[in-house]
Amino acid sequence: KKTQRIDKILGNLGYGSRSDIKKMVKQGRIALNGSTIKDSGVQSNPNADMIEVDGEQVFYREFVYIMLHKPPGVISATEDLRERTVIDLLPIEFRVFSPFPVGRLDKDTEGLLLLTNDGQLAHDLLSPRKHVPKTYVADCVGEIGEREASLFAQGVELDDGYVTLPARMEVLEQGTYEDGSVKTVISLTISEGKFHQVKRMLEAVGSKVTYLKRISMGPLLLDKELPMGSFRELTPPELESLR
Ligand code: URA
Repeated sequence: KKTQRIDKILGNLGYGSRSDIKKMVKQGRIALNGSTIKDSGVQSNPNADMIEVDGEQVFYREFVYIMLHKPPGVISATEDLRERTVIDLLPIEFRVFSPFPVGRLDKDTEGLLLLTNDGQLAHDLLSPRKHVPKTYVADCVGEIGEREASLFAQGVELDDGYVTLPARMEVLEQGTYEDGSVKTVISLTISEGKFHQVKRMLEAVGSKVTYLKRISMGPLLLDKELPMGSFRELTPPELESLR
């Protein structure tokens, strides 16, 4: 069983009898995930929740690691005055840990986004020297094939003169847009993260991205069972793979 009454959890840890804990709750000394509780019978999962007694964490859990399937329309920031952010998609139990997105996806891009409050891990994953590969699936205007794959493999010059590192492109599907024009679905793996990089790389070869989704970051793959807009914590092996 995952959850238990909070008076039972604290009782087992030696904080007193059920009635002692009821008293402590009345005195406002116990908080669950950042809010003072009013009922000593409230259910809690001690492995996932932060329980505090007199402001001290009982179950100390420093870090959270969250895989989010980012939907389009939300921004990869922690706060914004006007726009909905990826943090707004999380319930309070996770927001109390102050997670932030590891890198950014454009507002209209969907897919894998890691959220954590582990600054060291985030820093390592984002370090330009580490060249952590990120794979995207993109719908692109026109016919894309061997020519573009070899250009990306060599590096292409972006609009600001920057020449990209070698990237790996594969054609996944040829199709058409609703208006009948040619569409190519590709996967593109890049090992850096310049602003709008995938979109600008496609522009550099005369195409245009009309849909973009990230499916992996280093060893971490977007869980196919995770519906867009939802999230889950990383599994221990997933977390281990990132270290
Ligand atoms: N490249 C882009 O152009 N946009 C993203 O969101 C990610 C990579």
